[in-house]
Amino acid sequence: MGKAAKNLLLVDLDDTLIFTEESISRASKEVTGKKKDLRAVAKLPRELKAQIYDLAHSKYAHHIVINPAMAQVLGRSQGTRNVVITARPTSLHKHTLSLIDSYGLNVHEVVSRPDKHLGITGMEWKLKKLKEMQALKKYDSISIFDDKMENIRYLRDNLKSDKMSYFLVANDAVIPAFNPYGKD
Ligand SMILES: [Mg+2]
Repeated sequence: MGKAAKNLLLVDLDDTLIFTEESISRASKEVTGKKKDLRAVAKLPRELKAQIYDLAHSKYAHHIVINPAMAQVLGRSQGTRNVVITARPTSLHKHTLSLIDSYGLNVHEVVSRPDKHLGITGMEWKLKKLKEMQALKKYDSISIFDDKMENIRYLRDNLKSDKMSYFLVANDAVIPAFNPYGKD
């Protein structure tokens, strides 16, 4: 039996590992008759949104772009447990898996948000999930990758652990979110 990994990489999906702007825009045109950006789609009723996301990840999946910088980080992270965590509903889980599969990304697990947790914010759910996984107990170090500084701050302020490292993903740059002294 292999030794359990002691280091965990937790990677956000949208705008961190993948860029879906183009595929969503095309799918929104097909569903609503008008091209909409990610922000506009996010404001649509859940039913419509689900239709658009579904189409974006099937018919228009070839317009989804994998972040090359993040793919590289995953590729050179051997001996770690590499987990993609997304607040997307589980209805998109199979699409996410096949996308990761088709690009041969070095990912061991994809965690999606169960429908019963759709009532809380994405970050509240991620924090809950981290605690549920007992991640701080099970791993020696945890690296978080996210495209939003407010998300990173939220986790830092709630977890308050020196096992945590945070990386901000800005397009194709992956940079430490805080300086070595822990200040913003
Ligand atoms: Mg994101």
